[in-house]
Amino acid sequence: MANLINFEQKIDKGKSLPLFSHCFILPDESEWIAFTFNATNNAWLLFLVFDADRTLRTQYLRGNSLNKLLLHKEATKSSALTVPGELPGGEWLIQVVPTYGSNNDLQQTTSEASYEITVESGKGGVIEQDHFHSLGNTCWVLPQQQGKGFLINGYDWEEVKDPEEKWYRGDFHTHTIFSDGKMTRSGNNDSARNQKLDFFVATDHNIVHTSWSEEEVLIIPGIEVTTSKGHWNILGVQEWPDIRPSMPNGGLESEKGMKLLFQEVKETGALCSVNHPFLSPWAWQFTNIPLSMIDSIEIWNDPTYKDNPIATEHALNFWSHIWNEGYHITGIGGSDSHLLPHESYNDGGQPSLIGDPATYVHALNLSASAILDAVKQGKVFVSRGPFISLSVSIGNQIFKIGDEITAALEQNGYNGRCTVTLENGDENIFIYWIENGEVVLKEQGINSSYSFNWKNKGYSWLRVDVRSAEGQLLAFSNPIYYGNKNTSVTSWGDLLKKIEM
Ligand SMILES: [Zn+2]
Repeated sequence: MANLINFEQKIDKGKSLPLFSHCFILPDESEWIAFTFNATNNAWLLFLVFDADRTLRTQYLRGNSLNKLLLHKEATKSSALTVPGELPGGEWLIQVVPTYGSNNDLQQTTSEASYEITVESGKGGVIEQDHFHSLGNTCWVLPQQQGKGFLINGYDWEEVKDPEEKWYRGDFHTHTIFSDGKMTRSGNNDSARNQKLDFFVATDHNIVHTSWSEEEVLIIPGIEVTTSKGHWNILGVQEWPDIRPSMPNGGLESEKGMKLLFQEVKETGALCSVNHPFLSPWAWQFTNIPLSMIDSIEIWNDPTYKDNPIATEHALNFWSHIWNEGYHITGIGGSDSHLLPHESYNDGGQPSLIGDPATYVHALNLSASAILDAVKQGKVFVSRGPFISLSVSIGNQIFKIGDEITAALEQNGYNGRCTVTLENGDENIFIYWIENGEVVLKEQGINSSYSFNWKNKGYSWLRVDVRSAEGQLLAFSNPIYYGNKNTSVTSWGDLLKKIEM
């Protein structure tokens, strides 16, 4: 016997979307709930379904995925983006939240909008499942009542896909049909394999995947927290971040709420990574966020997108200033892939592909925890082709990208020699040496060395860019560094003001 409920909501023109809530009573011993979410195109709405214990059981973002979701006590019958398991009887809550940041949404609705939700529940005799995206064969969330949101407690962060300590190739920013991308999850798996990636992070807008389909490529849970004032990734998300606006803490759209969210995320051990900080109209505007809370910055977003070459140069420059203030924030890349592999943002242009640019991470092994640890340590370079092999010799010791060289330099008269060899490069390209934000040497070819003495320099750092003869960015490394610096610059905004960008 099925139980059917219907909610409709009109959103008036000019309304600044708050949070809409709808309750329904789920009969005891229900075995499944089928949801249908319909919304007009002018509002990018997120639907969140909390059970009687306030565990988040279903997420749906009006995007490119099917609008029917089946929440079932058995994982094999439940939809993607659900948390399967026992369905407690009692008062369930559906909240409807606006998501900002795409092209088609604004902080206020520019015309009338509306949505409709249908809830059908029952026991036994489940609804025809052709209309639902299945959960997939690995569930990242254990089916147990958890209270606030949910935890990614069914994911094995330590599972080793390759035991070797080496450079792994990946992508920290990807999308699927479950937000505004065109790729299915298995489409991303296939594309990543074609691009010879070892890993990628699943970072759909404002939804946390609760499952994936098992794959040889390592898939790391993440989310792109998406607001009208900028986007950031939680890399290695451990629990559902409360991204509802109009929360008591000030909510997703406020500086105060965002700072709290950063804090909560950092406490879980996940990484906070600011995305495309200088790409208009999605540039970073949360200027009060302390630089000490940011683990990494997406310096290089999809190079095939027309505004990105300039935004990337801005980001590189700002990143130099960050390092000059003594903050060791890791520079990463992200394809931000939304399109199918044959599609381009420009007519006849280069396709926008997952893994372009690729971010290389020198990790102890291929596991989510080792990859994320190595990112925290800055053992990273980003590339569209050349493989950067960089080593620093100080006395009889050798150091690599991301290493601190303080003790070795002090023991060896502050003298060091850094060597770069590029694999996959040609003789027409240039290696730029960047010391404390200044280009100190530019050399053509695939080999270059730079000797330095930092005796009276104090805190210092060194890294390389690789560019074409025309100056186009082909790759960049993270720094090696000496010493530390005390600074009065604490926030993103302080630094912007100081350098007047
Ligand atoms: Zn994105």
